[in-house]
Amino acid sequence: MTVNNVIVVGAGPAGIGIASLLRQSGMDYLVLDKKEIGASFQEWPKNMEMITPSFPSNAFGQIDLNSICEATSPAFSFNKEHLVGQEYAEYLTGVAEHFQLNVQSHTEVKRVFEHLRGWVLETNQGRYFCEYLIWAAGEFQNPQMKIVSGTAHCIHSSLIKDPSSLQGNDFVVIGGYESGVQMAFDLIQSNKKVTLINPQEIDDMTTSDPSRVLSPFTYVNKNSKIKDSPQYTEILGEVNEVLRKEKGYQLRLKDETLVDTEEKPICATGFDLVKGPIEEFIIYREDGSPRLREETDEFFGLENMYLSGPSVRHDNHIFCFIYKFRQRFGVIVEDILKKEGYDEEFIAGLVKNWSVNGMYLSDLSCCGDECVC
Ligand SMILES: Cc1cc2nc3c(=O)[nH]c(=O)nc-3n(C[C@H](O)[C@H](O)[C@H](O)COP(=O)(O)OP(=O)(O)OC[C@H]3O[C@@H](n4cnc5c(N)ncnc54)[C@H](O)[C@@H]3O)c2cc1C
Repeated sequence: MTVNNVIVVGAGPAGIGIASLLRQSGMDYLVLDKKEIGASFQEWPKNMEMITPSFPSNAFGQIDLNSICEATSPAFSFNKEHLVGQEYAEYLTGVAEHFQLNVQSHTEVKRVFEHLRGWVLETNQGRYFCEYLIWAAGEFQNPQMKIVSGTAHCIHSSLIKDPSSLQGNDFVVIGGYESGVQMAFDLIQSNKKVTLINPQEIDDMTTSDPSRVLSPFTYVNKNSKIKDSPQYTEILGEVNEVLRKEKGYQLRLKDETLVDTEEKPICATGFDLVKGPIEEFIIYREDGSPRLREETDEFFGLENMYLSGPSVRHDNHIFCFIYKFRQRFGVIVEDILKKEGYDEEFIAGLVKNWSVNGMYLSDLSCCGDECVC
């Protein structure tokens, strides 16, 4: 059995970012990924760009919104504001190589169980043991089709790598957040007709939090370009059921409206935490997210098993973007260092640096303020 002090599962932005902090602390750690560094980004649809802009603002203490490690900037690496998935995966690989992070690819964690005040991870490469487990397996690889019945007749948007290559002319997209609008935009660019179904008006800006409403980037570059197109129809409603018809499909909405389409409906209805191997340990909040200890991001009721990444929630704060969830990297590593008895001054020095670089936020009372204009 391979033994490490800390094991991080997942080599996406959360796993690689945490690993860069663990490296600075000098702790013994290992990152495992079932595929490769940045695998989720490599699998993004080919035209999908980051919605958060990158800018090399680091020198003035405002780190690039998409950086996951100090002294790095995707904008600087690619001289570009909005990277496509493949480019962001290359940025992550570049960070791992430059800082010589300890990452092992093609190692899938299949089961986790408690053993001797630590965790045993069963993988396709054998067993691993660690005292501290950081779960950073992301969401992208667990797409969700949130309709009541008939999901077998639909396809999730994340599985369509090149919308322009789809056969057919008349598509229904379910969901009007980032992925749904991007999909509608790509299809209309290819001269296809699109009906998009969403419970609320897409550009109804009731908050400035991009975790809840369309980002300015998608609004300006995608949504406002399609909404007046004769190829585009928007329906307010919730799809309950999808039925297979002799020729095509029929969608039944909550208010009994029926929508017919010849092509497989496309679900752009989001993702959920990849949690299979640790599911038995999770206690949930009312909104279905894992309940975590606010001080440390440990799974509620457990010691030494932490969550990092877009599924982190505290009160009404949603940490689903990189610039949000990276602020909790330092909180996790600080907790481990304290438990391991590291020198307080040493920890304080690291924490000060992480705070300056947007990798440490422990007081959440400052979050959630809306922009006034
Ligand atoms: C279409 C789309 C666009 C987005 N745009 C933006 C954006 O512009 N800005 C932004 O900040 N965020 C954006 N996000 C959100 C962002 O991509 C995610 O928050 C981010 O990928 C999460 O990083 P992560 O490291 O937690 O997960 P991931 O990047 O998904 O990495 C998880 C890793 O874990 C590995 N893994 C999974 N299960 C196992 C297992 N059992 N064993 C071992 N390894 C495993 C996977 O192979 C993967 O490499 C977007 C998301 C989507 C879907």
